[in-house]
Amino acid sequence: MIGNAEVMHGQGCELHIAPEGLAIKFLATLPGRPALEAVGYEEVAAVDVAPNGRQLQVIFYAPRETWVIKGTNRPEALWARDSMLRHMSRVKARRTPLFEAKAEPDDLREKITELSAADPPQVAVLADLLLAQAIHHGATDLHLQPTGNSTVVRVRVDGQLITLGEMPAGTGERVTACLQVMARMRSFAGPVAQTGRMRVDDYGRHVDVRLTALPTTDGVRLTARLFDPSRALLDLEALGFAPDALAAYREAISQPRGCIIMTGPSGSGKTSTMYASLAELVATDPSRSISTVEEPVELNLPGVDQTEVNRPSGMDFAAALRSVLRQDPRVIMVGEIRDMETAEIAMQAALTGHLLFTTVHAPSGAGVLTRLLDLGLEPYVVASSVTMVVAQRLVRTLCPDCRQACELAADELEWLGITPMDREGWEACLPTGCSKCGGSGYRGRSAIFELVPVTDRMREAIMQRRPMQELERLSAEASTGDLWRAGLAKVAAGVTTLDELRSVLGTPAR
Ligand SMILES: [Zn+2]
Repeated sequence: MIGNAEVMHGQGCELHIAPEGLAIKFLATLPGRPALEAVGYEEVAAVDVAPNGRQLQVIFYAPRETWVIKGTNRPEALWARDSMLRHMSRVKARRTPLFEAKAEPDDLREKITELSAADPPQVAVLADLLLAQAIHHGATDLHLQPTGNSTVVRVRVDGQLITLGEMPAGTGERVTACLQVMARMRSFAGPVAQTGRMRVDDYGRHVDVRLTALPTTDGVRLTARLFDPSRALLDLEALGFAPDALAAYREAISQPRGCIIMTGPSGSGKTSTMYASLAELVATDPSRSISTVEEPVELNLPGVDQTEVNRPSGMDFAAALRSVLRQDPRVIMVGEIRDMETAEIAMQAALTGHLLFTTVHAPSGAGVLTRLLDLGLEPYVVASSVTMVVAQRLVRTLCPDCRQACELAADELEWLGITPMDREGWEACLPTGCSKCGGSGYRGRSAIFELVPVTDRMREAIMQRRPMQELERLSAEASTGDLWRAGLAKVAAGVTTLDELRSVLGTPAR
């Protein structure tokens, strides 16, 4: 049959694997079924081996049905899968010289239109192209949004949504289904939300992709979150801390016990800060055991035991944290605290000789403390476990290739109480826009921090359940400076702009 084919045996069939394609040969003929089916690798979406190795599946882009080969043995099935994946990636590399780097917006828009208009539409090629371009754009998310008669493709870069192109509704639907198949979701599951994951190997980079498919009245809306380890900042120095704040933060994380709580809206970089903190602890003392409980695990950290929450099987934050504590780690990161049970276990751990990192949703640093009390924790537990609250936001940074020095207008900062004299030595800049930053004038993001070490006076106020305003006042006294102050330092250094600060922080209440 196919030249150079190697053969894997299954129950009642043989799978022939050759560099130029795949064939399945049935040993017994059935009426209405051909004895042999052959396909090229460009039709193969995914290959999967059952955990026990007794079954192998070859999943195709619609409309070909999945091949299920039963009765295999594990080593043979794994070998077959790996050689198919190898051939598939070779075929893919030949087929997609589709921009090895970030494409120019017009070229990309044109390419998407062209592939959609082909007869038949190049569905699989489009799916690969969109994923690859999302990665090359440094995007954190890829969105395929049906709007009725078309599907709009957008990526989120540095927190901003950028439109890459548009596909006719029919093609968009098939590209969405194709991505769902690649992520092992069922593309014909009906109107239910689904999640799936896959790994994209793009020119030597391995990017983890989590997909969510949500049915809407216009069709399935697909969101893919991209976790690119090569873009992750695991260096505390590179996150954006001011030097004095970094020193204070390092002091807090070098303690053997206590609880450090991050707060900020989603997408404000809290996980990156916790990851960078754990990476630093691994580097300074590799003998210390470190565990995490996360939802999901966004990045594999060397030297850290990471556990993922799995709600359907009953492994919620509280249950996962309990089982992690049995292994007696010294340092623990809990992705998020939002229920009493998790809060109680976590704070007890912080009281009994563990260093704990976590996040709590709250409007401010002091708000974190009242939130913990509102969850039902005893004041003495909160007062004696929490050592520091860290409020964090991300601001876009000016493109170093095109930013231009500017003079801020005399009254520009009066409303913040900053006089022209305070601004002596400032080197404020404005965005211009060039090819390197896609015309926006901004490239990359940097974090701004407010650190609130929990002081004795704050502990007292917590114990006496003093009103929120008093905690706010005490926390402002203890703080290294609020988010505005941290942001203005970056404006002064020409790293970001006042407009960007206003859009992230809103107008300050003063
Ligand atoms: Zn630029």
